Amino acid sequence: MQIPFVDLKIQYSSIKEEIDSAIESVINNTAFIGGKYVKQFEIDFSRFIGIKHCISCGNGTDALQITLKAMNIGSGDEVILPANSFIATSEAVTAAGAKVVFCDVDDQTNNLDVRLLDSLITPKTKAIIAVHLYGNPADMDTILQIARKHHIKVIEDAAQAHGAKYKNKMVGTLGDAACFSFYPGKNLGAYGDAGAMVTNDDELAKKMRMWANHGRVEKYNHEFEGYNSRLDGLQAAILSAKLPFLNKWIEKRRAVADQYTHALQELTDLVLPKEFEDYYSVYHLYVIKTKYRDKLQAFLKEKGISTGVHYPIGLPFLKAYVYLNHSIDDFPVTAKNQKLLLSLPIFPEITEEQILYVTENIKLFFHSIK
Ligand SMILES: *Cc1c(COP(=O)(O)O)cnc(C)c1O
Repeated sequence: MQIPFVDLKIQYSSIKEEIDSAIESVINNTAFIGGKYVKQFEIDFSRFIGIKHCISCGNGTDALQITLKAMNIGSGDEVILPANSFIATSEAVTAAGAKVVFCDVDDQTNNLDVRLLDSLITPKTKAIIAVHLYGNPADMDTILQIARKHHIKVIEDAAQAHGAKYKNKMVGTLGDAACFSFYPGKNLGAYGDAGAMVTNDDELAKKMRMWANHGRVEKYNHEFEGYNSRLDGLQAAILSAKLPFLNKWIEKRRAVADQYTHALQELTDLVLPKEFEDYYSVYHLYVIKTKYRDKLQAFLKEKGISTGVHYPIGLPFLKAYVYLNHSIDDFPVTAKNQKLLLSLPIFPEITEEQILYVTENIKLFFHSIK
């Protein structure tokens, strides 16, 4: 049996009519850039999140960079972010002109280890980027409490966490602003690049919109040099067509996670993802830990099962950040976990039979090495 890591085609087949008619209407209206479909998606997504403003843009990386610029964060400023994330989180900080400050992650959640935050804050610190990694919310109460004490901003990187909840509150409404990616493989994915920023702050929203659109308020009235980062009409219409299904897809992901956890909990050489009370994870990824990671991954590959590693090299250890002169000892948890993490196939359409095939083969692997 072949089990892909994700399968975007089955999802398309299940909503083909909605998607095809969305695409057709954009083309009929030639609303390719800006226009009513983009406006409508911004309304739809802000309603889904339960927030005042949604400003769409080209992708999730741009969303982070534009948010920083709109907050006036740049040269001479420092931004704290987790050592285990996708490079977009740190790249945006550098692109905005600020300095990246990595924080090690919590061993259980792989999100910011909030106990370390205070020690990383300097007079130059302007913001903390809280990544809700794998779709599991970061410890927002503690992060916000520390940030408020030091008068610094909190930006949520919610690229993997559309619809996740923290203490019954929607992820994206917790910090000063939040950034989303609609990259095709994300829980709400477009059919190309797409992203958005959300906030309740009127002034910030206005600046974000200007930064994403050449620093202008009207067609040729540019108040400063911004960027060209736009959501196109086709992507917007596709996203609006998919949004009504998102909650159902999240429930499916959570059911898949439950089945994995139920089937694998007896294996002592495995650490399974743990969902804390009052945290509602949307399981963008189902990430296990084992010291036999490489062997297990190779074994599963041979059985036709695709897996992933998120991420195989912690951000501070990438060649891109050699200039920061970090060593393994600076981020012991990230260093340890990058050798242990393994992401199992998860997508709303994965079948019970496929899940069973994955879990049976994992059990087979652990029995074979005994
Ligand atoms: C995907 C992702 C991004 C970047 O989004 P793009 O749309 O690919 O630019 C940022 N942060 C995290 C945690 C992501 O997973």
